[in-house]
Amino acid sequence: MQEHSDLMRSLGKTIAFVPTMGFLHEGHLSLIRKGRELGDNLVVSIFVNPAQFSPGEDFESYPRNLDRDFDLAEKSGVDVIFTPDEKELYPRNFQTYVELEKLPNHLCGISRPTFFKGVATVVAKLFNTVKPHVAVFGEKDYQQLIIIRRMVRDLNFEINIVGVPTLREPDGLAMSSRNTYLTSEQRIDALCIYKALKKAQELLKNGINDAANIINAASELIKSHMGTTIDYITICDPETLVDMETIDSPALMALAVKIGKTRLIDNMMLNPE
Ligand code: AMP
Repeated sequence: MQEHSDLMRSLGKTIAFVPTMGFLHEGHLSLIRKGRELGDNLVVSIFVNPAQFSPGEDFESYPRNLDRDFDLAEKSGVDVIFTPDEKELYPRNFQTYVELEKLPNHLCGISRPTFFKGVATVVAKLFNTVKPHVAVFGEKDYQQLIIIRRMVRDLNFEINIVGVPTLREPDGLAMSSRNTYLTSEQRIDALCIYKALKKAQELLKNGINDAANIINAASELIKSHMGTTIDYITICDPETLVDMETIDSPALMALAVKIGKTRLIDNMMLNPE
């Protein structure tokens, strides 16, 4: 991979990079289309990163289908599909990790305390391997996106980070590889996540700007669906992720909800008029 990237760079080609865990869906493909626009050479990685899963999470059962992914990637104009081996990325005696001080202490980092250490580390390694000029990430994983932006600034990676809006199913559910875990009943319940976000936007539009009130209404809506468990619902500053009490400037509403055993995340901006 490094040799290929060195060659591309020596030919004056720009490299665009889309890191994924595979099981590609339309959301990934929108990142790939963006990457296609941004670089001469488009690299997509597929790697289910063990370092970002904790014991008891779904590393083993995470959906995988490399043949299908290769097919989709090829049809979308991807030049290189990089599928590193676990032992190659984490050889014996591996001991260097990338950790951020503040951003991981919010949202998903609370229930998944080692998650962003795993994410930042693997992304740094992939950046050093793929050597891209530009890398594309989804706003669906908003906290991940701003953590990567922070890491790139803090560690002087010369990489432009581009965010792409969340792609949704026609009814509003954010696309996710994990949606395949849902039974047909759970798939219906899962829509409450999107409805809660839309409800928040509606309340704000109607003049309610007290974050606690909005969170309360959103959590009531979610709890009315049996089999859902709220991990968190937060309204926070989009840059620091610190909770906001009053929505008097653009705020991020983010939530994680378990539908049965499947943990799904989503977010939306709340913009006061
Ligand atoms: P994953 O394979 O889930 O690690 O996701 C790889 C990349 O695709 C990440 O940058 C995600 O934020 C992005 N992504 C996943 N789902 C969506 C979606 N529904 N819309 C836009 N981007 C997405």
